[in-house]
Amino acid sequence: MGASTARVVVVGGGFGGLFATRALVKAPVSVTLIDKRNYHLFRPMLYQVATGLLSADEIAGPLRSILSRQRNVEVLQDEVTGIDPEKRLVHVRQHEVSYDFLILATGIRYNYFGHDEWRHVAPGLESLDDADLIRGKVLTAFERAEEMAALERTGAEGIKHFLTFVLVGAGTVGVEMASTLAEMSRMALAHDFRHIDPRSAQILLYEAAPRVLPTFPEVLSAKAQRHLERLGVKVHTNTRVTAVDADGIVANGVRVRACTVLWGAGVLASPAGRWLGAPMDKSGKIVVNPDLSVPGHPEIFAVGDTAHVVAESRNLIGLKSKQPMVMPGVAQPAIQEGKYAARVISRRLAGDSAPAPFWYWDKGDLAIVGRTYALADLRFIRFTGFSAWILWAAVHIYFLIGFANRFLVVLQWAFAFLTKRRQVRVFPGQERAASAHSPR
Ligand SMILES: Cc1cc2nc3c(=O)[nH]c(=O)nc-3n(C[C@H](O)[C@H](O)[C@H](O)COP(=O)(O)OP(=O)(O)OC[C@H]3O[C@@H](n4cnc5c(N)ncnc54)[C@H](O)[C@@H]3O)c2cc1C
Repeated sequence: MGASTARVVVVGGGFGGLFATRALVKAPVSVTLIDKRNYHLFRPMLYQVATGLLSADEIAGPLRSILSRQRNVEVLQDEVTGIDPEKRLVHVRQHEVSYDFLILATGIRYNYFGHDEWRHVAPGLESLDDADLIRGKVLTAFERAEEMAALERTGAEGIKHFLTFVLVGAGTVGVEMASTLAEMSRMALAHDFRHIDPRSAQILLYEAAPRVLPTFPEVLSAKAQRHLERLGVKVHTNTRVTAVDADGIVANGVRVRACTVLWGAGVLASPAGRWLGAPMDKSGKIVVNPDLSVPGHPEIFAVGDTAHVVAESRNLIGLKSKQPMVMPGVAQPAIQEGKYAARVISRRLAGDSAPAPFWYWDKGDLAIVGRTYALADLRFIRFTGFSAWILWAAVHIYFLIGFANRFLVVLQWAFAFLTKRRQVRVFPGQERAASAHSPR
């Protein structure tokens, strides 16, 4: 990399950061991509790792190898802790990295609404570590129930406590997890135990809003709820969870005992806005200019879940929206915004005029509810069921990084589909957990 080329620092190797980096392939820049993890993660399929259908390396790849052929990129694994916009420095844990242009794509974290202590009891699904932890928690609950029943150490109430799984938040993650847990207990695990019946597991889904999948049209939400109930999930809408502890939750004032509580309610943006003292919306996203730059800092861009972007959109068949819309927190806006920020930088360096303001090509929303059922809202057409599931599967396979992963995932799905079994039933951390509980 030449010493005189402009230096672009990209923070975050998720959808926004990775696609921005790739889009700079031909630009006369040297790119430093910094991520606290060494992998790019395909989050839409993370619930399949958490429930044992896929293994971690099928939905994640090392950033270094994904970008190994792009000669103008270096990858650093470190956590960014702050930014000095005056000196144009990014602070990582021990050092600083200088930049001419900065792209912030640091995503979100779950919002525990001021109760961060709930995070330990009710993990959310964000990273591969969380997926392992959740898979471990779920499988351990079945193991504990079996052991207690085998040793006659508890009655029906005790077994029910072990086999009650609570999910807080009925957005896409809550719905995916609830439906998959229901099917897992009724199919994959059904015949593996001698003293308990996994089919008796209770899957309880709580949502403060009046309906599940609140960002989908009402008619699709209603269909999703009916399908969840058919799978055996008990759905509680208009129900606010006000306490979480090791014994379960309190929902609308009622104590619900549950051994496993999983969190999928509300999100907060990463602290990138605070690093810059930039204008933020109420979830902490940076309110950016129409060219995605941060107000007052034309050389800094925020994209994806870190940014509050209001833009015009066009649907799949090219029809323009009547009103500009706030970009939803899903993968497509992050990808398109990442590419757009790269284009602004490339054009600026080439001395070309700025591109037109960012607009969003809205390809619609998909959500999966169990093994063979999905919802598709393509804006000009909506449908549900197996046909939507085929579309969901095709889109998700297409966007997986790497041919080997695509091929393996198709094989794993086909196997799971035919046998109704889950492949990944082992999980890390068991010895650590056991020694934490054993007397010294
Ligand atoms: C479980 C789950 C399921 C989802 N399902 C879907 C779906 O089906 N369809 C869909 O379209 N969207 C889905 N989403 C949303 C989608 O994944 C996000 O909208 C998208 O990933 C946003 O991209 P991003 O680049 O803004 O952030 P991310 O993809 O979250 O990437 C952020 C990156 O920044 C890194 N990072 C964060 N902080 C720092 C720091 N301080 N220093 C260094 N690196 C840092 C992280 O390690 C991460 O790699 C899902 C999200 C989750 C959590």
